[in-house]
Amino acid sequence: MRADDRKRVCIVGGGLAGGIVAARMAAAGHRVTLIEQGMTPAPLMPTDETWEGDGLKSAFTRGEGLGGSSNFWHGGLIALDASDIEAPGCPGGSPKYPISYARLCGYYRQALHLLSDAEISMDDLTAADGEGVSVAIDQALFEPKVLIFPSKPFSTKSLLENAQRRDGLEIVTMTADTLLFDGESRATAVQGIAHPSGQSTTVAADLFVLCAGGIGSVKVLLNAAAVNPALAKLPIGRNITDHPTGFVFKAKLKARRNLKRMFGSAYGKTGHFRRRLGIKLKDDSLGIAAHRNHALYLRPAFSMRNPRDYNVLKNRLVWHRGAKITLWEKLQLFRYLDLLMEALNFRFGVFPSVRYIAGFVFAEQFPAETNCIVRDADGRFTIHWRISKPDTASLEGFLGAFLHSQKDLVEEFVLFSDLLDSGAHHSGGCRIASTPTDGVVDEDLRVFGTTNLFVADGSVLAYTGHANTGLTIAAFALMCVDSLQRELTADRLPTRVS
Ligand SMILES: Cc1cc2nc3c(=O)[nH]c(=O)nc-3n(C[C@H](O)[C@H](O)[C@H](O)COP(=O)(O)OP(=O)(O)OC[C@H]3O[C@@H](n4cnc5c(N)ncnc54)[C@H](O)[C@@H]3O)c2cc1C
Repeated sequence: MRADDRKRVCIVGGGLAGGIVAARMAAAGHRVTLIEQGMTPAPLMPTDETWEGDGLKSAFTRGEGLGGSSNFWHGGLIALDASDIEAPGCPGGSPKYPISYARLCGYYRQALHLLSDAEISMDDLTAADGEGVSVAIDQALFEPKVLIFPSKPFSTKSLLENAQRRDGLEIVTMTADTLLFDGESRATAVQGIAHPSGQSTTVAADLFVLCAGGIGSVKVLLNAAAVNPALAKLPIGRNITDHPTGFVFKAKLKARRNLKRMFGSAYGKTGHFRRRLGIKLKDDSLGIAAHRNHALYLRPAFSMRNPRDYNVLKNRLVWHRGAKITLWEKLQLFRYLDLLMEALNFRFGVFPSVRYIAGFVFAEQFPAETNCIVRDADGRFTIHWRISKPDTASLEGFLGAFLHSQKDLVEEFVLFSDLLDSGAHHSGGCRIASTPTDGVVDEDLRVFGTTNLFVADGSVLAYTGHANTGLTIAAFALMCVDSLQRELTADRLPTRVS
């Protein structure tokens, strides 16, 4: 085949998902154009969004530039469980995902291989029976959950730069605004603003994949839906979810205690990678938390103090880019010496034996009609996102069960459920489903009603369970690569007139 005869694949967004799809497709010999809005990695703070409700208390939760948010992530890898995929979700009682857990696991294996440079296997993500969590945990209710940090953090940016150099990946710096269609079902081009010229521009292709992130892809699709009646019928931007996270309780222990004995190897190294052990409810105990699947991690603490003000200050100091931070501001951190020590101890594990513990959760948020992204009449976007009362009540049920199971150890505790914040895991706005009533993409990640438009980023996740989304996003990106390969092999695409 002559180079010019190859079909062109256009990917919007060069973050974790877009990086994987673009690099894999280019390595397979396809003609690939990647559109990324940022030139260099930086926090992403769009000016066309208004966040309602709780909004983002964190300094930022998204990144731009080659690598997107993964330039800022902590690289923690964790997999969803079978019940997160196959158990009935809400609303309606059908399974949470329209695919089997076995199918997802095939992609989890590939994703782990890629993200950990072959260091981590699926077995490493499961704690063996009895390993790690000691008798202190009520094993009738809880089970261990493993979170792994590879010894070498994965770099999406390097993946893309290699693909550009080695496999001819074309990278265009541009903010995609919308998609142009031939009729209602066949996308023909991406339209947007090129950088740094500021000129309006279009990129034509045969296949399109939106990977602009959990919020970004929704915005591009909502813009397209404003003039495409078939897209307008889909639930784009509805029922968005995040992954509320935060240090939500402190407890004073009856006696100084070595946390390694409470949570096993939580603070040790296994092999070359760091492995943290948390706990979650067993499947048959999920009713305690209204069927939401939360994970809890402990860290040694030095006081019962609420970390709210410290977090605000720390976020500002760590992510305050481009502005001068005075020595006085830095010194302010020492007002929170106990919390500073807590953070340092967590990282370096100097004092495992402590009198206090702090509990960090990854909470599952269920889809709710009130959480959605809306395109306003002026073309701006309003993002309605709140942590609902049922979500908080469910978390309190989970933490209550944990603390009750620790009553022989814990003297007193305090819950800080107001500290829950975005987990930077924006999901669900283009959810995967088996029908266009329930979701935006089908089980091949193709937008319902279209022939050549796919989505493969955080927005396709229907439920986020208790797990950080990065590994699952990578798995879905690899699934999308297979869908694209099948499409190109079947050669169903009409010849494009350019
Ligand atoms: C501080 C931090 C720590 C994190 N830690 C972890 C962790 O330990 N483990 C984990 O699993 N997850 C973690 N995450 C979350 C993880 O990084 C994201 O879930 C993941 O990167 C999302 O991948 P994505 O491909 O969906 O989107 P992104 O990586 O956000 O990529 C989207 C890309 O699209 C681009 N884009 C958006 N709109 C447009 C447009 N209109 N035109 C062109 N380009 C566009 C953006 O610039 C960006 O590059 C963390 C996130 C943050 C912010």
